[in-house]
Amino acid sequence: MINIPLRVEILRARIQKACEACNRVPSSVELLPVSKRQPMELIQSASQLGFATFGENYVQEGLAKAQACPDLSFVLIGPLQRNKTKQALLSFTEIMTVDRSELALRLRHLAEELQLSRGIWIQMDLWGEETKMGGCSETALPALIKTLEGDTRLPLQGFLAIPPPGQPEAFQDMAQLRERWQDKLGQRLRLSMGMSDDLEEAVQAGSDQVRIGTALFGERAMSA
Ligand SMILES: *Cc1c(COP(=O)(O)O)cnc(C)c1O
Repeated sequence: MINIPLRVEILRARIQKACEACNRVPSSVELLPVSKRQPMELIQSASQLGFATFGENYVQEGLAKAQACPDLSFVLIGPLQRNKTKQALLSFTEIMTVDRSELALRLRHLAEELQLSRGIWIQMDLWGEETKMGGCSETALPALIKTLEGDTRLPLQGFLAIPPPGQPEAFQDMAQLRERWQDKLGQRLRLSMGMSDDLEEAVQAGSDQVRIGTALFGERAMSA
């Protein structure tokens, strides 16, 4: 059985050490548990330690978990297809993977229709990965931000990124992008980057939120 309290302790120690190395306050780094393809029991164990928000990758799975745990919040960190937009808005408190204007427009339209408000994060891909993970290029970003600007129902929270492995300077690229857009928009923008294997590099570059799956819950089940 996975010892969640012990794993949280280890993760907090890693975050603290990474913060000390760069003079950051450990409480400025949020630990977002990623519960995709993990059973409800593990989510419950984490919730008993005070975690109230969980990252999920699949709309259907997130919906099922949100219905089973009405006291907890779930945020979407996986790719969003157009035909799942409505269900995503209903199931998640934040959509963290908005990466194209067409999707942003659809979200605006539906948020208005459903009369609800959701935090929005833009998923960036500055490195031309073009993987199935998605992500907005730097060239496409101004238009996407314009589509979201001024929408009080879908407030922009920040940027999510999954930099290519073994390229720690990629975290710095994101830090600089964040600075530029904070200046342009005159608002604070958060950075969600860093996972089980690279949270230290991400914290060092200024990440505000690390998204942790395996280091917290263990290996995931093979299928959704
Ligand atoms: C699965 C996933 C994570 C967690 O990854 P681990 O390596 O298990 O910590 C974080 N972010 C995203 C977008 C993911 O899909």
